Amino acid sequence: MKETIYTIPVTDAVNANDECLFCYLERKLEQEAISFIMGPAYMEDDIREQTDKLGFCRHHHKMIYDYGNKLGTALMLHTYYQKLNVDLHKQLESFTPKKTGAFSRIKKADAAGTKKESPLGQWVQAREDSCYVCDHFKEKYPRYLDTFFNLLVSDREFFQKVEAGKGFCLHHFGDLMEYAEKKLSTKEKEQIYPVLFNLMETNMKRLEDDISWFVDKYDYRNHDADWKNSKDAIQRGIQKITGGYPDDPVFTQK
Ligand SMILES: [Zn+2]
Ligand SMILES: [Zn+2]
Repeated sequence: MKETIYTIPVTDAVNANDECLFCYLERKLEQEAISFIMGPAYMEDDIREQTDKLGFCRHHHKMIYDYGNKLGTALMLHTYYQKLNVDLHKQLESFTPKKTGAFSRIKKADAAGTKKESPLGQWVQAREDSCYVCDHFKEKYPRYLDTFFNLLVSDREFFQKVEAGKGFCLHHFGDLMEYAEKKLSTKEKEQIYPVLFNLMETNMKRLEDDISWFVDKYDYRNHDADWKNSKDAIQRGIQKITGGYPDDPVFTQK
């Protein structure tokens, strides 16, 4: 397989033998993006233009806050607010309340629903769905998926490492299957799916067992028994379902 700039990160991620190699890649890209924009980049006009346009999601705003560059964060927020308030004014000015009929009042209001129907609800939702850091990952992710499957079908050593590894979290496994269904040939699917499915089941069961032993350890009769692999079963158990690293220390500037 032709080496690309994505080959080394994907190979590194497999070698890391993490609970999920895509969680591993995602964390790396996330931290890369945060250090980049909170480094000297926030002073560059073209970067600020992008962060003013895209903003950040709740999760990445928290990461930016934790990173600890207070002046950088304030400067970025300042120009972002300037644009946001102009947009807000336009939205409020052009808003026309919907006529509320008897029937629509009876219909259950779906305030927590995922699909917003009012122009203002939609405007806020679009703002929340837009994030500079998420975009950075979304842009790279398909390339990593490409590289992963290319290596899997062409590189025997890579295949064996994946096969002997810990599999994927459920979140990224869903993405893998979406990708594989669209891009792999029937023959490749026959070769790869049994391995992926076995990896998922074996490793999800492993987590179930680790968590089970964690619970059993609280029984006084097991007080002196060995922890086996269960000491960090909670954080790995959460990662395996939703992705991410609940036990990671806060990512801060060095
Ligand atoms: Zn994952
Ligand atoms: Zn984000």
